[in-house]
Amino acid sequence: MINLLVTSSVQAKVMTAQFLQALSFAAYKHRHQRRKDAAKTPYINHPIAVANILLNEADITDEAVLIAALLHDTVEDTDTTFDEIEQYFGRVIRNIVDEVSDDKSLPKAARKQAQIDHAAGLSDRAKLVKLADKIANLRDTRTSPPEDWPTARIDEYLEWGKAVIDQIRGTHGQLEGLFDRAYAQGKAERPD
Ligand code: NDP
Ligand code: ZN
Repeated sequence: MINLLVTSSVQAKVMTAQFLQALSFAAYKHRHQRRKDAAKTPYINHPIAVANILLNEADITDEAVLIAALLHDTVEDTDTTFDEIEQYFGRVIRNIVDEVSDDKSLPKAARKQAQIDHAAGLSDRAKLVKLADKIANLRDTRTSPPEDWPTARIDEYLEWGKAVIDQIRGTHGQLEGLFDRAYAQGKAERPD
């Protein structure tokens, strides 16, 4: 059941043309992809969730951050290039997406470690997207986990997510509180 409760105190929020263009672009690019949960949720639900956390749970209205949130997995997970992002959305957005994209030439374990190593050096905008991405994924591991993950793997993911976010604390207290709650809820359901 989707939670449509808006905790934000920001009353008037306008969806801009470029935000809707980014949503449309991401929906097209991810159109054949599904999340890893048993229900095979359409992938686009995830970038929407990340943007929704930023705007409606953390009152972040910086349009570049919100657009980058919608686009944050397009290069990592589809055939989209950074040049394409720049062509449609400009250099500022391209740079944020670049900052939050893994280097896919690295083996998976090295990519995981690289996220921990590089988190502190991200721009503030990229840190906000990174925080919301981890909040969304930690929530997903609890509410709609990858279908083949045993509890030990979910626990490993919670700890890795925390290791990344611990590098960027001091960026946005509200988002960090949401992350801590998602982590605590995940841990509460895991064995010690
Ligand atoms: P990941 O650990 O990278 O999978 C998690 C990622 O999948 C998330 O960050 C998220 O990324 C995406 N995702 C899609 N659907 C969901 C969902 N329902 N819930 C949460 N996240 C979702 O998986 P990989 O297979 O790429 O493995 C990477 C690493 O995992 C390896 O390097 C290894 O260290 C470890 N591993 C551990 C194993 C174990 O048994 N302990 C076995 C195999 C690997 P996004 O935001 O990009 O969508
Ligand atoms: Zn993501």
